[in-house]
Amino acid sequence: MKSPIPDYLHVVLENARPIEDGKPASYIDTLARADTSRLAVALATVDGKLYSAGDDQVEFSIQSISKAFVYAIAIEDAGLEKVLEKIGVEPSGDAFNQLSLERGTHRPMNPMINAGAITAHSLVISPTATAEERTDRILKIFSRLAGRQLHVDEEVYEAELKDADRNMGIGYMLKAAGILTCDPREAVKGYIRQCSINVNVRDLAMMAATLSNAGVHPITGESIIPQWSVRQVLSVMTTCGMYDAAGDWVSNIGIPAKSGVAGGIIGALPGQVGIAAFSPRLDDRGNSVRAVAMCQQLSRDMGLHMMDVSQIASSTVRTAVATIVAGQSDPHNANCNREVVIFSLRGAVRFAGAERLTRAVARELGVPDPQDPGSGAYIDACAVVFSFRDVFSLNQVSQRIIREDIYRLIADGKNVIVIDPSGVLKSDPERQGPHPCIVKTEAEARDQIGGVGCQAVFKADNW
Ligand code: GLN
Repeated sequence: MKSPIPDYLHVVLENARPIEDGKPASYIDTLARADTSRLAVALATVDGKLYSAGDDQVEFSIQSISKAFVYAIAIEDAGLEKVLEKIGVEPSGDAFNQLSLERGTHRPMNPMINAGAITAHSLVISPTATAEERTDRILKIFSRLAGRQLHVDEEVYEAELKDADRNMGIGYMLKAAGILTCDPREAVKGYIRQCSINVNVRDLAMMAATLSNAGVHPITGESIIPQWSVRQVLSVMTTCGMYDAAGDWVSNIGIPAKSGVAGGIIGALPGQVGIAAFSPRLDDRGNSVRAVAMCQQLSRDMGLHMMDVSQIASSTVRTAVATIVAGQSDPHNANCNREVVIFSLRGAVRFAGAERLTRAVARELGVPDPQDPGSGAYIDACAVVFSFRDVFSLNQVSQRIIREDIYRLIADGKNVIVIDPSGVLKSDPERQGPHPCIVKTEAEARDQIGGVGCQAVFKADNW
């Protein structure tokens, strides 16, 4: 079978092609002369499959998309506390190149507008590093994220530096406010250089997919950005990534995103995909008109809006009750003919799933509650089985909750068996005392409870 996804990307591309609105950024000479017919889209999954369509090899400067990644590098180099001291996280509602500072703190409002991005750039390596050293580090990390060696477009760099009065103005404003401690010209030069790194949509989709994949590169497996820092970056992209169009973007498209004045946009949907789109004509907020349209279609058609409530946690727990019946062979133990409660969990379990499980366990095996008829029905069950056969993952919180359930059941004198063929439940090395019995199959679980070769007769449902 031929995958329908590349064909679908072509449809997305051709739907955007007739849009003639907007114009390329005019304040940078080279961008003003961009070929406005260029159009490309790409999508990279968190397991490293890359799809693209259109002018997917055409390079353009990354511009403001760099801000998201340099924010991550600043956090790594200076620490989050220092970064937050210097750069806020509030959407400004202003244009990207606004000369503005937050009232009271005198910090730039956020790292996605130029004032915040120039500050973030100045925090890369150290305040005494040169523009050259900083961009060198940034270029190396961007290349690892893209999965190939990237380069600065010297022509774009020179063109932007030539007319950098506004950004220089921002630099001096930051210096005067005590936010920049280095030479403002050096910070602005380095910032402009970071904006002039050339990429194509395939590079950008991979960079975005690395954010979607908790900072781990989907193909190389290299951990490039720590997970907690990715959370910070994606949060700020969500609220501030599209400048003064942020609210519009979040409600319409609902993917953490960042745009650049060369016409690129990235979107990073946590745990799923990274997307990138490119076309040079911009709307009056500085976002590519066709790229916005393509992202919008992708989000709608593929259900990528992060606020779509598509996975309801309640579907993750199944409860069954069985009686263990002695098999043909010995040995058997006293549990035969007594009841066993089986809790099967499925999917990617997080807090809500673990809470559902805990509630079910407490209801079936707790002290009967007169307000809740049927509760405590299996308080005398001889064993409790947790089946994680259909669980893809248990996040840290759900691990903690489920381990606590298990320890409490053991403390109540229950025999606890965990069916966990792929080892999703990690043990807690700190914990003393008896541990549950962990097996790989249902048959092993039955053998453990009733004795070798036991059968399970169900009241309802299947094991
Ligand atoms: N280099 C550009 C600037 O600072 C980047 C702006 C952008 O992409 N929005 O003006």
